[in-house]
Amino acid sequence: MDKSKRKLTPALKQYLEIKEQYKNTLLMFRMGDFYELFFEDAKIAAKELEITLTSRGFGKSAEKVPMCGVPYHSVEPYIEKLVRKGYKVAICEQMEEPKPGKKVVKREVVRIVTPGTYFEDEKEDRFLMAIYPEGKNFGISWTELSTGDLFFTTTDKDGLLNIISKFKPKELIVPEKLKALFKEVKSLSPETFFQTKEESYFKDEETIITERKGEVKSLSALKKFIEETQIEFIPKLKRPKRYSEDSFMYIDPHTCRSLEIVESMNNSRKEYSLFGILDKTLTGMGRRFLKFSLLHPLKEKEEIEARLDSVEELMNSFLIAESIGDILKNVYDIERLLSKITSGVASPKDLAALRRSIKDLPELKKHLLSMSSKLLKSLGKDLDTLEDIYCELERTIVENPPFSSREGGIIKRGVNKELDELKTILEEGEEIIKKIEEREKKRTGISSLKIKFNNVFGYYIEVSKANLHLVPDDYMRRQTLVNAERFITPELKEFEEKILSAKEKVEKLEYTIFVNIRKFITQNTERIQHTAEIIGKIDFLLSLAKVAVERGYTKPEIDNSYNLKIEEGKHPVLEKFLEEDFISNSVNLTKDKSFAIVTGPNMGGKSVFLRQTALITLMAQIGSFVPAKKAKIGVVDRIFSRVGASDNLSRGLSTFMMEMVETANILHNATEKSLLILDEIGRGTSTYDGMSIARAVVEYITAKIGAKTLFATHYHELTELEKEIDSVFNLHVSVKEINGKIVFTHKVLPGISEKSYGIHVAELAGLPESVIERAREILISIEEKNQLKELELPIFNIQKEEKRKIEQTITESESELIKELESIDISTTTPLDALMILA
Ligand code: ADP
Repeated sequence: MDKSKRKLTPALKQYLEIKEQYKNTLLMFRMGDFYELFFEDAKIAAKELEITLTSRGFGKSAEKVPMCGVPYHSVEPYIEKLVRKGYKVAICEQMEEPKPGKKVVKREVVRIVTPGTYFEDEKEDRFLMAIYPEGKNFGISWTELSTGDLFFTTTDKDGLLNIISKFKPKELIVPEKLKALFKEVKSLSPETFFQTKEESYFKDEETIITERKGEVKSLSALKKFIEETQIEFIPKLKRPKRYSEDSFMYIDPHTCRSLEIVESMNNSRKEYSLFGILDKTLTGMGRRFLKFSLLHPLKEKEEIEARLDSVEELMNSFLIAESIGDILKNVYDIERLLSKITSGVASPKDLAALRRSIKDLPELKKHLLSMSSKLLKSLGKDLDTLEDIYCELERTIVENPPFSSREGGIIKRGVNKELDELKTILEEGEEIIKKIEEREKKRTGISSLKIKFNNVFGYYIEVSKANLHLVPDDYMRRQTLVNAERFITPELKEFEEKILSAKEKVEKLEYTIFVNIRKFITQNTERIQHTAEIIGKIDFLLSLAKVAVERGYTKPEIDNSYNLKIEEGKHPVLEKFLEEDFISNSVNLTKDKSFAIVTGPNMGGKSVFLRQTALITLMAQIGSFVPAKKAKIGVVDRIFSRVGASDNLSRGLSTFMMEMVETANILHNATEKSLLILDEIGRGTSTYDGMSIARAVVEYITAKIGAKTLFATHYHELTELEKEIDSVFNLHVSVKEINGKIVFTHKVLPGISEKSYGIHVAELAGLPESVIERAREILISIEEKNQLKELELPIFNIQKEEKRKIEQTITESESELIKELESIDISTTTPLDALMILA
C-alpha cells in the first residue's frame, strides 16, 4: 500500500479496495442510512443526479475527498436515472451490523445494475445481447431480465443488424475485436465473458439446447454476465427459444422505420405509429406481444385466419369481451412481478399484486372455453388458472401488505402458531398499557396523563407542565418539552423489553415466512410464465377487436395467391387523425398487372397511398382487421419500403449512396411473393442519372423478381413503360381546380397525371397570357421529342441521344430555355417558384 493510503481511515481504505475491482462502474457505498460515492464517481453522480457535491477529510492530514450521497430508502430513482444515462452502478452493502470496538463493518458488492440488466424498469424494454462470431455468421443470444424472455440464433450480418434494430438491446456483450462494429451502442461489455471455458453445448436442466459454437458461446457469455452482475439477485429466465426469422414476414430495419410501425420517424413517439393505433392492450404482456407481432407478422394462412376469426368473435361477443377486459384490467405485469420475485427483490406488495392478477383466472378460462373460435378455445384449454398459488397467497398474505418485508404486517393470522402467539403478546401489550395508564391516572390524580411510544425513548409517561407538582417520586425524568415532561418507570421499561423482543421476533418470523412464500412462487415459475404468455395473447386479440370496432375496420380475406386487392383503403394512422377528411383509395395488384407507377404532384398523396398499402397488408398478416371497405390479401413473405431522398435530405451528402445501398438490398432480397414500396428512386442524383437508374430498377423488378410493386416517381417519362412492359400500369394522384384554386383531391386514379401542372399554376398566378402560351408550346415540343426517343431508343441510352436531337432542332437561345425548364422539378415547384422562373 502506498504512503497516501496509509493515512486514510479504514472505511476509505476499504472503499478503495472495493473500487479497484469495479473500475467501470459507479460504486454506491453503503454507510449507515446513505449510499455514498467518492472521488470521480461522486463528481459524475452529483452532476447527473443534480445533487450536492461535498467533500470530507478521512483521517488526520488526509486530503479532502469529493463525495455525494443518496438516502438508502429512496435509492431506486437515482439508480434508474444513472442506468438510463448508460452508467453501470455497483451496489455495495454493509454485510453486518456495526459492533462497538470493531473499526469497520464488512462490506460487499451485492449487485451491479447495468443498462441491460436493470429489470425493475417498468417503462422500457431492456434487452441484453451477446454476440459471438462464427465464420461469416454470428451466434447471438438476447434476453430481457424483466420478462425472462431468452432467444438465440445464428445469422449473417444483415440478420444481426435486423435483430438489433427490432429488439434494440440496451447493452451488448461482444468480443473485443467486434467492438468497432457497434460504435453507436453506448454500453459494451468486456470480452472476458467469452473466455468462459469452452463448452460444446448449452444445457438447460440436462436438456441440450444447442451445440453450435457461436450460440453456445453467446449463451454462456450471457449467463456468466448475468451471474457476475446480478450476483444474488438473478431472475429466473424462460427456456431459451430459437429465434427463427423464416417463420415470420421479413421486415428490414429501414422498412420498419419508414412505415412507422412501432415509432414515428421524426420523433420516436409511439402515438403516431401503427403500434400506437392498435395498442388498446390492458397488460404488459399484451403490449409486448402486440409489439413483437408487429415486427414479426405471420406467413401461414391458417395461423393468420385463426387470429382473424378470434378477433371477429370477440367483436361479435360484446358482453364476453367486456368481461374479459374487466378481468385483464386487474392483471398486473405478471412477467415483471415474477422476475422480481425469483430474483428476490420483490416486496410483499408485489406478492399481493400477483395474487390480484391471478384471482380471476378461472373465470377467464370459463369465458374462453365458451368461445367457438379455435384459437380462443385452445388458449382457454391451455390456460393454467394457478388456483393453488392463489390459495396459498390468499391464505398467507394480508389484504394490504406493506412495501417493506422487514417490518412485519405481512402475514395473516393462522399461518404460523408461534407468530400468532407473539402477536397475541403484542396485542395484550396494548391492553396492558391501557391498564397501566388508567391506574397511574388514578394514583397520581393527573387525568391528562398519557403513555406514549417513540423510537428514541420507547414507552414513556407524558405529564403536562400544569400537573408536574403531582408527579410521584418513582417517576424518572427523561425529557422536557415546552408544555410537558416525559418520564419512565422501571415497570414500564421491563414491559417494554418484553414487547420489543416480541416485536423483533414477529418481524424476523414474518420475514422468514415471506421468503418461503417467494421460494414457493419461484418453484412455480414456469407455470406462471406460461399463463402470463397466454394472457398476453388474449389481451392482444382483444386489443385488435377493440380497435376494429372503434375504427370500423373490416376483416381481410387471406389466401395464398399472388394477388393484393384493397378497396377503399385508408392509412391507419392518418385516417385516425384526419377522420372524414381522409380520402380512401383502392389498389389491385395481380400477376398480370403487378407493377404500378404512381405519378402526380408533390404533396398529392403518393407516399401515403404507398404506405397504406404496405400497412394494410402488414396489419392483415398479424391477424388484425384493416381500414378498408374490402381487402383480399395473398400472403406476402417480405415487405420492403424505400422512401425518397428528399424526405431525409438533412442526413447529408451520402444520401444518394444510402439510397442506392437500400435499393441494392431490396433487389437482392425481394422475391416474387414480396411487396415493394418504392418512393422516388433516383431522386438523389442528376435528372438523367436518376431517371436511368429508376427505369433500370423497374425493368429489373418486372423481369427478374416479379414482386408486387408500387413505384412512385416524378419522372413522367417512366409512365411510358406501361406500353413496353406488360405487368406495368400507371396510376396518378389527381388534382382539381376549384374556384380558381388548385386542390389536391388525394384520389388515386388510373393513368397519367396532368403534366402542365406547373404552367397551370403559373397561369393561376397571373402570368401574361403570351408567356403561358409560349411555355405550353415549348413543353409540348419537348414532350413530343421525348416520346419519340423513348419509342425508338434501346433502354438505358436515352439521355445522350435525346439531348443531341433536341439540340439540333432548336435554336441556341431556345436550347438555353429548355435546359432550364428541364432542370425544373415540377412536382416540387411552388407557385411562387414558377413565377420567378418564368419571369
Ligand atoms: P406525395 O408523396 O405525393 O408528395 P404525401 O403522400 O406525402 O404526398 O401526402 C402529402 C399530404 O397530403 C399528407 O401529409 C396528408 O396530409 C395529405 N394526404 C395524403 N393522402 C391523403 C388522403 N388519402 N386523404 C387525405 N389527405 C391526404
